[in-house]
Amino acid sequence: MLELLEKLSSQQYHKDIFDALKKQDEQIYQLIVKEYERLHNTIQLIAAENQCSQSVLAALGSIVQNKTTEGFPGSRFHGGCEVVDNIENIAAARARETFDAQYANVQPHSGTNANQIVITALLERDDTILSLGMDQGGHVSHGANVAFSGKFFKVHNYSVNKSNYLLDYDSIKAMAIAFKPKLIICGATAYSRTIDFKKFREIADRVGAYLLADISHIASLVIAGAHPSPVNHAHFTTTSTYKPGGPRGGLILMGHDFDRTITIGDKEIPLYKLLDKTTFPGVQGTPYLNNIAAKAVFFKETLSEKYRARQFKIIENAKRLAGNLAGLGYDVLTNGTDNHMVLVNISNSIEGLTGLIAQQSLEDCGIIINMNKLPYDDKNAKITSGIRLGTPIVTKNGMGNEEIDTITTLIDTALRKVKVISDRKYELDGSVKEEIKEKVKQISSRFPLR
Ligand SMILES: *Cc1c(COP(=O)(O)O)cnc(C)c1O
Repeated sequence: MLELLEKLSSQQYHKDIFDALKKQDEQIYQLIVKEYERLHNTIQLIAAENQCSQSVLAALGSIVQNKTTEGFPGSRFHGGCEVVDNIENIAAARARETFDAQYANVQPHSGTNANQIVITALLERDDTILSLGMDQGGHVSHGANVAFSGKFFKVHNYSVNKSNYLLDYDSIKAMAIAFKPKLIICGATAYSRTIDFKKFREIADRVGAYLLADISHIASLVIAGAHPSPVNHAHFTTTSTYKPGGPRGGLILMGHDFDRTITIGDKEIPLYKLLDKTTFPGVQGTPYLNNIAAKAVFFKETLSEKYRARQFKIIENAKRLAGNLAGLGYDVLTNGTDNHMVLVNISNSIEGLTGLIAQQSLEDCGIIINMNKLPYDDKNAKITSGIRLGTPIVTKNGMGNEEIDTITTLIDTALRKVKVISDRKYELDGSVKEEIKEKVKQISSRFPLR
């Protein structure tokens, strides 16, 4: 009887999750084990990746996943929502606190969806967007012609300056005046310098445009105060929640302008209400409530001193990596970084190398990075001249100066031993691979997943 009661308890139910999976589906269970081992034995330097805590994983894998409803807390469509209403209210309150925002919407299923919600809320078909081009470091959801936003709206792209690869606010302003966009989007996936959100707002105000700041890549730095916050400059701020180290998902924030009104048809409605309505039923269906629970857990973590201190360390590690590479003769874009990422023109650095070959040869050695198209890159997008490196995960696992130095040496050793055959083909001696892989394992085993 006692045993039965225990079996029925939430504690036991959730504890048994992995054993249940192992029993039910050995094949997927083993692949999950393999993924853990892959992460444990290699070094993660993908700037877009992070590593959430076990507590976030627990919330994601909890029974809350089963609750179905529509709408927002207090006005749900289905019964039985008192617990999930509480969870969502806590998640939104913590998000407001951590970003110092007036409004937080924790329902977007992804960063891309968060952008789609804002864009759909504000624009009519054929309205104009001004955003950073995808070939310049912008994100595909900011109006690329292969994306939804590029399909239904007119999109003009600003660029980075050709001589220094920095945002050129004068030219952005000139474009805004010329094209009179209804929406200006700032924020990037491949830009290693500080973004001046205040200047962007001045430009938006000059032409009567709304400003959306997408801080997916730098959200953790914004939380910690390691990068200026756009929340009270932009009308809307969006982010993915996995890049700053939470569960997959998206978030929309508003600062001072949250209750400013907009005229829709013959009605005036506050912007935040428009966003709620556009989230559901406008763009999404049922919220992922387990995901929202996991976001709540993550936002609590972001309020800790430990989390905030780590963000400064991430930048310190990235600066060191950039400095080391530049010192070894690599062409580091903008000669350094202000954030967590380092962009390198690898074709300019080592004769014949492409981003693709750099990515693959480093992966052969257990170092995981990604190739990246660079501004004004004349290389085919599938090969690229660039690579992008990021320090969130190595920092999370506790690595510092000494390890960054060792990692730089390993990267340099590997890349210099590559024999280039063509843009895509190369050879790397088996013994070189094994030697570096072994060293990678030695480091990563000292800094297990946290
Ligand atoms: C990663 C990223 C996104 C997309 O987020 P998803 O959750 O993967 O859809 C959007 N915008 C920017 C700037 C990003 O870097």
